[in-house]
Amino acid sequence: MRILVSNDDGYFSPGIAALVAAVRHLGEVVVVAPERDRSGASQSLTLDRPLTLRTAANGFHYVNGTPTDCVHLALNGVLGFRPDLVLSGINDGANMGDDTNYSGTVAAATEAFVLGVPAIAFSMIDHGYAHLDSAARVAADVVARLGARLRERPMLLNVNIPNLPYSSLTGWEATRLGKRHPSEEVVEGRTPRGDKVYWIGLAGSVKDESAGTDFHATARGRVSITPLDIDLTHDSLVATVGQWLRPGPEPSSLTGIQR
Ligand code: MN
Repeated sequence: MRILVSNDDGYFSPGIAALVAAVRHLGEVVVVAPERDRSGASQSLTLDRPLTLRTAANGFHYVNGTPTDCVHLALNGVLGFRPDLVLSGINDGANMGDDTNYSGTVAAATEAFVLGVPAIAFSMIDHGYAHLDSAARVAADVVARLGARLRERPMLLNVNIPNLPYSSLTGWEATRLGKRHPSEEVVEGRTPRGDKVYWIGLAGSVKDESAGTDFHATARGRVSITPLDIDLTHDSLVATVGQWLRPGPEPSSLTGIQR
């Protein structure tokens, strides 16, 4: 099995080193990751400048771009082969609920999935890499257990792992994404020269942590595995918008479009 590994925390991150070490025995492993921390980059591509790919002493390749750039480059010519599986992480912090919209970790996996390769994003629910060895073992378990199935039926999986010793984890759960409240307010500050600056505030607190969600599973010590889809269409609203566009009694300059 040939595995491409990326992340959003950067090629130097302890999380990517642990992930590579954990899956190395499963096949050929190649790393293409951002040269710096691009957490929160979402699924963005760099289109306004060229990208460079360099290789670190440990063999990891790094790119001066986003996580999505890394996977895009790797799969569209740089690797010279098509991997069987793409892994992203292990992220330093959760990617649950609404976090997934902003996540570079999930985005790297999403880019692979868009390009037809099954992919798994791995995140630890708390910052600081406590019990990283345990999370790496979980990642290897997931790949060993689901890798063959994913090759039969390509999927995008989002895995969140409680920061617990391996023996304290209470199992697995297939979950749906929970929900967060809107993020907290921006934090205002001043530069040394007196100019006003803002920090993006913390993610919102948890709003939906009902049974079946990623928040619910991980709070109980279980590894959460959420299959993700990438079609943003709100199916149940297509008919509603269609109705709104029907010619009504009020004159409208758009009604001509439908005729
Ligand atoms: Mn990150």
